[in-house]
Amino acid sequence: MKNNIIIRGVGGFYDVLTKDNQEIRCKLRGKLRLSYDKVLVGDMVELTTNNDGSTVIETILPRKNSLVRPPIANIDQAVIVLALTDPSPDLLLLDRLLVLVGAADVEPILCINKIDLAGYDQLDALIRPYQNGRYQVVTTSAKKLDSVKDLKEKLIGKVSTFAGPSGVGKSSLLNRIETSLNLAVGTISAKSKRGKHTTRSVELIRLSDGGLVADTPGFSQLALPRMEQEKLQLFFPEFLEVTNECRFRGCLHHKEPSCAVRSQVQAGNIILSRYNNYLTLLEELKQVNEYR
Ligand code: GDP
Ligand code: ZN
Repeated sequence: MKNNIIIRGVGGFYDVLTKDNQEIRCKLRGKLRLSYDKVLVGDMVELTTNNDGSTVIETILPRKNSLVRPPIANIDQAVIVLALTDPSPDLLLLDRLLVLVGAADVEPILCINKIDLAGYDQLDALIRPYQNGRYQVVTTSAKKLDSVKDLKEKLIGKVSTFAGPSGVGKSSLLNRIETSLNLAVGTISAKSKRGKHTTRSVELIRLSDGGLVADTPGFSQLALPRMEQEKLQLFFPEFLEVTNECRFRGCLHHKEPSCAVRSQVQAGNIILSRYNNYLTLLEELKQVNEYR
């Protein structure tokens, strides 16, 4: 990585992965201890070495972004995982996550997992609206050797977090990518032994190819952030391809006359689920802006 990065906190100390790929346990410089709770895993830091050989975090560099749950900074990309089937894809959740990830200034990667469980037609129908330069899309099966190659490549040199509903295979994929990980897979009870009852903090896992992945799924908070309603379409790239043909500037593509987005929906060029999800999120945003 290009900077020194905090990869975990351990009882008042921080483990930092340095630029030259060493892991060093560090203390915080006294003046930084005041901002103790503001130090996040993912923070990029400057270090100094004391005479006694101990290393101190001197400065925390400005963040490019940060999440609240899990608390983590400077995320490059979020791998949004859905299963092709079992559980069947929740498209509203997907479109919501694409908005949340984009609004947090994180690059989304759509990952369709469990492709061993259904046919090509089903896969194609699911991913087609998201392809063609709109989003990065990868398909995987955690059950098949070599079927996580594309995903693995996308993680090299980046700080990533996985997101998506439970049961879609996030832990299985991480185990497949990094076999030493051994994350609990499957039943909620197997996982809660590790997560729910002990307060564990998030950690960045080092991948052997170079790259860091959060061990706790990101974007668990699904409420939209405050933003102007006109901004929502920024996360619907296929709308942006035609909005200059809407009659009104600032068209929200809802009830305005001569709306190019609605025409494209009617013509079948923009899929209905995307448009309906847009309307659902647009309405939600209105509530958020009014009541928060
Ligand atoms: P998570 O909740 O998203 O972390 O999902 P898990 O990794 O715990 O997987 C949930 C269940 O789906 C487990 O029983 C896995 O064995 C299974 N699973 C995960 N990935 C695949 C896949 O690619 N193909 C198939 N057939 N099953 C999978
Ligand atoms: Zn319009």
